[in-house]
Amino acid sequence: MNAECSLGTDAREGVLTIDLRAIGDNYLHLRDSLAPGSRCGAVVKADAYGLGMVEVAPELYRQGCRDFFVATQTEGEVLGKCLGDDVNIVVLTGVRPGCEAACARARLIPVLFTVQQLRDWVAVSERIGVAAPCALKFDSGMTRLGMTEEEFEQLLEERELLQTADIRLVLSHLACADDPDHPQNALQLRRFKMAAERLRTLCPDVRLSLANSSGIFLGDAYHFDIARPGCALYGVNPLPGSPNPMRPVVTLQLPVLQKRHLSSTCQVGYGATQQAVAGSCLAVARGGYADGILRAQSGRGCGWACGRRLPMIGRVSMDSTIFDISALSENERDSLQYIEVLNKRLTVDEVAGYAGTIGYEILTSLGSRYHRRYLRS
Ligand SMILES: *Cc1c(COP(=O)(O)O)cnc(C)c1O
Repeated sequence: MNAECSLGTDAREGVLTIDLRAIGDNYLHLRDSLAPGSRCGAVVKADAYGLGMVEVAPELYRQGCRDFFVATQTEGEVLGKCLGDDVNIVVLTGVRPGCEAACARARLIPVLFTVQQLRDWVAVSERIGVAAPCALKFDSGMTRLGMTEEEFEQLLEERELLQTADIRLVLSHLACADDPDHPQNALQLRRFKMAAERLRTLCPDVRLSLANSSGIFLGDAYHFDIARPGCALYGVNPLPGSPNPMRPVVTLQLPVLQKRHLSSTCQVGYGATQQAVAGSCLAVARGGYADGILRAQSGRGCGWACGRRLPMIGRVSMDSTIFDISALSENERDSLQYIEVLNKRLTVDEVAGYAGTIGYEILTSLGSRYHRRYLRS
């Protein structure tokens, strides 16, 4: 059956199809890649990288995932309501000052970055009488969030605090995991291991977590107790420059608003940056930079129809994008209703390349005006 015919009136603003089965398969593939004894968590921050956290997380849960990572407390509260009680929800940017009680009552596990934050967290949990598990972040070399080696030393001196606090997890984040040859990987691994092993002599039950999606492919030494893949679940290639081991997840179809056959050579779009010669055929599709068709790919990007790439022409507008469809046959042009701008062949990574960015940004930019379709098993 022709997918285009089955879209119906919901499809007028464009159709974003999200294959939950592919996300489930990607989860299982990542889990199977882990060293024995390592668990596979899932990062569902930023609305599951733009694909819909409340749809995606239950699918991951169904596949056995019980360790979820979100960016904010608000995301954690929403997630807690759509999953069972047997999950761990870790908030990667920690707890907002003044919101500790709400965070603990929602059974969220905040990532804490300083010794003082840990003291405050323990004090609040004692005051409100609620068990308050937490995670600690160790900065092994990214210089973003977390305790430095010196701060970690101070923490190890605080025996009483370490005994009272319910520290479930120590994590660190790799800066260069997508470049297996980068020396930063081994350096961060060594620092993380040293810090973690010392903490474990005092808190033997604490779990360790280092690997994001790409980190999983650096080998068993990077897996520790829990892996934290995000982008690979959603089809982004965790191995840039090598074949993608993940299944593609998204298809984005933009409806064609107008087709035109040019009888003379014309300047196309804002700024008159590109020319279409006499005899060209153009199609204007509904979907522009307000919908996540990044303007940076103007003059470079492409769409897909009838098994072929079709170049974008002129600048991407806010609500529409122009494609040169001259390469299609007359019949194909006549029946053309949709142009795809993401699919199994035209991948998020390829599109990111045209826009000078990464697949993560393509996914998290996908707009809210599309009709969203979820494919389930
Ligand atoms: C976003 C994030 C991840 C997931 O990274 P991917 O590269 O998408 O797999 C893991 N850990 C932390 C701390 C993050 O912020």
